[in-house]
Amino acid sequence: MNIDKIIEDQRSFFNNGNTLTLKFRIDALNKLKESILYYENDIYTALDKDLNKSRLESYLTEIQMVLSEIKLTTKKLKRWMKPKRVSPGILNFPSKALIKPDPYGVALIISPWNYPFQLLFSPLVGAIAGGNTVLLKPSEISVATTEVSEKIIKRAFDPEYIAVLTGGVEVTTQLLSNKTDYIFFTGSTPVGKIVATAAARHLTPFTLELGGKSPCIIDKEVNLNRAVKRIVWGKLLNGGQTCVAPDYIYIHKDIKKTFIQKFIQFTTEFYGDNPISSNNYCKIISENHFKRLVNLLDDGQIVYGGESNKESLKINPTLIENCSDDSPIMVNEIFGPIFPIKTFENIEEVPVYIRKQGKPLALYIFSKNRKNIEYILNRTTSGGVSINDTISHLIPHDLPFGGVGESGNGAYHGYESFNTFTHSKSILKKGDFDPKLKFPPYSNEHKTI
Ligand code: NAD
Repeated sequence: MNIDKIIEDQRSFFNNGNTLTLKFRIDALNKLKESILYYENDIYTALDKDLNKSRLESYLTEIQMVLSEIKLTTKKLKRWMKPKRVSPGILNFPSKALIKPDPYGVALIISPWNYPFQLLFSPLVGAIAGGNTVLLKPSEISVATTEVSEKIIKRAFDPEYIAVLTGGVEVTTQLLSNKTDYIFFTGSTPVGKIVATAAARHLTPFTLELGGKSPCIIDKEVNLNRAVKRIVWGKLLNGGQTCVAPDYIYIHKDIKKTFIQKFIQFTTEFYGDNPISSNNYCKIISENHFKRLVNLLDDGQIVYGGESNKESLKINPTLIENCSDDSPIMVNEIFGPIFPIKTFENIEEVPVYIRKQGKPLALYIFSKNRKNIEYILNRTTSGGVSINDTISHLIPHDLPFGGVGESGNGAYHGYESFNTFTHSKSILKKGDFDPKLKFPPYSNEHKTI
């Protein structure tokens, strides 16, 4: 695999103007859809192999999300591509001022293993819509999905337009040392820093979709039954390996006991008495990740769960309490089915603690008290928020999805994906007339305009 040559070929393909028309981009999106549907069964098999993900969960959280992005984009692209007229200002009279969404050129998309299909293909939809050529670098850890992703791309596109580059850190490092025109990275915060540093060397614009600790706050005034049902779903989806999974429970001390009872009730309802034997319950991606998670079980007192199976790489949903604030489980993103419980007495304590951990990717508030909800919303910064639910703010196409500070930079989904993969070029087209006062020699007297 000659990375320099692939980049060079893509650059000439772009510079020759191949990707500029609406027709070319719509055709490409249709080809992508056709190829995804052609390999649909292979995608399910791959996701089952990598994560033991059920067919329905795979459809809803991976395939459907990409197909609906393609559907929306093909419908709206003509309008999105149209230059927007704005006021040129009186000094420019007569003239036209336009904002034209311009493709960047060669875009590099680097993706992680946890939603290995969706997180590779969803940004790709935006990059195609924006008129870029694309280098895709999927995760080396989700081996089966990476294999089928490569087949999907090869069936639909030539590498001078869209190419998949497989491999680990060495391949990403080589890609990052080259000059590309846009970098879209999804992954961990530490690797995000490496990507941002590499981008700075060439002053390449970038988006970082990172992780972190997303708190799940449960106020005393709450419908606890409904709240816990939604929390169990959001935490255990993909085996807890979701960037916006509620990371830890931050609950009013008076309702902690009932929370624990209800957590057990819903977990059992969804996955049976022993979730690690359920086909609906995902496994941990690799032995290394499994070991890391099992070590976290020593960071507090287990109140529910804690069992694991080394062969199937599964860990039962676990509640753990009395974890010290400086223990690894309370400092690092958990990214697995382990839930530490922390309590508060007064709502005022909540934002103070959350702010100490950096800016979360997602923040969840379960409460019936509007004042308390507002209090937390106004005193914390996070990429996004779901109130009285988990994960759901990711679903609407019109809500940009992204982090802030430690949890990321930039956003995508729907129009925001197109916006991310295009540069807003300002164009002023001047008419024949020039006002006299524009040119020297200047008079000392003038009117205020
Ligand atoms: P990761 O950062 O380890 O890897 C992501 C990508 O970067 C992979 O393609 C990998 O090959 C590459 N990479 C790894 N180490 C590198 C290095 N030293 N130099 C250059 N490239 C390197 O992330 P992961 O473990 O695959 O995914 C889990 C993380 O991703 C979690 O932190 C999670 O929160 C985050 N995440 C964020 C989002 C989001 O949309 N914000 C979505 C999913 C996952």
